[in-house]
Amino acid sequence: MKNKKITDAILSKIKEYGKIIISRHLRPDGDALGSAKGLAEALKATFPEKQIVLASEDGSENLAFLGKDDGQPDDGFYSGALLICLDCGTPERLSNKKYGLAKEIIKIDHHPNIRPYGDIMWVEPERSSVCEMIADFCMRYKSQIVTTPKAAGFLYTGLVTDSGRFKYSVSGDTMRIAGFLLDKGIDTELLFARLNLDDYSWLKYKSFVYKNMKMTEHGVAYIRITKATREKFALTQEQASETVYMMESIKGCLIWLALIDYEDGTTRVRLRSRFVHINGVAEKYGGGGHECASGATLRGAKQIKAFLADCDSLLAEYKSDHEGWI
Ligand code: AMP
Repeated sequence: MKNKKITDAILSKIKEYGKIIISRHLRPDGDALGSAKGLAEALKATFPEKQIVLASEDGSENLAFLGKDDGQPDDGFYSGALLICLDCGTPERLSNKKYGLAKEIIKIDHHPNIRPYGDIMWVEPERSSVCEMIADFCMRYKSQIVTTPKAAGFLYTGLVTDSGRFKYSVSGDTMRIAGFLLDKGIDTELLFARLNLDDYSWLKYKSFVYKNMKMTEHGVAYIRITKATREKFALTQEQASETVYMMESIKGCLIWLALIDYEDGTTRVRLRSRFVHINGVAEKYGGGGHECASGATLRGAKQIKAFLADCDSLLAEYKSDHEGWI
């Protein structure tokens, strides 16, 4: 069992503290929300005598069906509290500006550990999701932690979304852990309907993206979503961010990215790939992420052009050095 000493230490910290705060990264996806809500639900069911608070400062419209957080406690609550940070590589990216007030911090993450923080760190970059790690934690200590059907549903949501519906970073353990969650009783038909169905207006937006996306010389697919486009389709930032997934199934385009313009004049790039590792390019521009899913914040047309050129060169090099890609 991998990292057993660390998970033992995390369990004893959880037992030791009467006040526990659970947070995750800003602009949450299914994994951030699912892992935080799943862990909070399981710990609340296991330790009803403890004060356990899900505290983050933003939410997700697309995943609103998962429900809201508990709200931010006052500063006094933090002193003497344990803060568990989920799916968050750096403290700055945490959706909780009060993190410095907590007595101790535990980092649980599946991003490369470029920026270590916290008193205990459990980081496994090869995991499909943090939900997989939290579900593994619940499974390892199943005689001591109560995994309610609700907790299992939260964790399964993040597991299926972050693994791209069991496509990315899936191991035998992923499936055994998924089995553990399914055995708790999850309405998967309802979950997939919630995750998969689109509004009519969204399909209209998709057709705009397919009409306007571009491709670099060696096959990097990209599109820039300006303020005008967001207004035309009445898109929230979160919806605009979803654009990147529309370009994932183009043969020969092993790298694809969406450039989303923000109100403050910056452009957030969401970068994805298959076979090619793209986190190095994201890091060069002050961003980061996983080998095949990264992001960065760019400033101005010149930097965007340079970023696209770097992605194109990386792909050209990959294609000339490798065979069997598609
Ligand atoms: P996203 O496109 O926002 O889903 O990001 C993909 C991955 O890249 C996430 O797992 C993030 O942790 C990471 N990431 C995105 N933006 C940044 C950034 N500015 N700095 C560091 N990591 C980032």
